[in-house]
Amino acid sequence: MSLALLTERKTLDEIREARKVCTCVTLATIEKIQTDYNWFYNACKKCQRKVKSEDGKFWCEKCNENARFVIPRYRVQVLVIDHTCTASFVLFDREAKQVIHKSAVELRGRLTKEGDDDSFPRELDVLVKKKFLFKIQVSEFNLNQNWPVFSVSKMTDDENRIAAFKDSLDLNQVSLSVTCDNTEVEICSSDNITPCKRNLFESDVEQSVLVDLISPQMSSNKKEKHIKIEKDNY
Ligand SMILES: [Zn+2]
Repeated sequence: MSLALLTERKTLDEIREARKVCTCVTLATIEKIQTDYNWFYNACKKCQRKVKSEDGKFWCEKCNENARFVIPRYRVQVLVIDHTCTASFVLFDREAKQVIHKSAVELRGRLTKEGDDDSFPRELDVLVKKKFLFKIQVSEFNLNQNWPVFSVSKMTDDENRIAAFKDSLDLNQVSLSVTCDNTEVEICSSDNITPCKRNLFESDVEQSVLVDLISPQMSSNKKEKHIKIEKDNY
């Protein structure tokens, strides 16, 4: 409940047009997993931060040492869509694990065992074509770099929460349309779709280049074939 009520609601279009740092809630469907980006990153087991791979070792900036144990953690980038627009969201470990019901350690371990380091595990497909209520952050980085990829801090597919969110949204929109022009406008009806201002589908390639330039720590680590995976119960 708190997720829907205490945080500002925004459509994807409004999120992409945001000019201020904010946290907001949005209802959107995951259209696809953006497989140009890897689905996990290697984290230092001690501090959970991303490690850098250098000469077969993993450097942890936070601990200021080579990490002895490295574990994969989810970082899944998805394309989401609502009635206004599309956007890219990034799901991190806790939220992804909650939906997938398996840890990145388990999935990575299985793929490695099968000798398949490059595939996306099929378990991630449970995310696709599903509607979620997302709590996301529009960060300083999003605004300064005009970076249209937003971090998800919480997500739920709980039907009651989604219904409550929709109900309160309808109320808002009725009063909005009345104040605007005294006629009832069905803002949410499916034949009233506002076109996207920028097309994320087309800019996928451009974005992957940008990821490498702007935030190397987020880029794919497909080249790291020799990853030490801890088999204990993480
Ligand atoms: Zn560390």
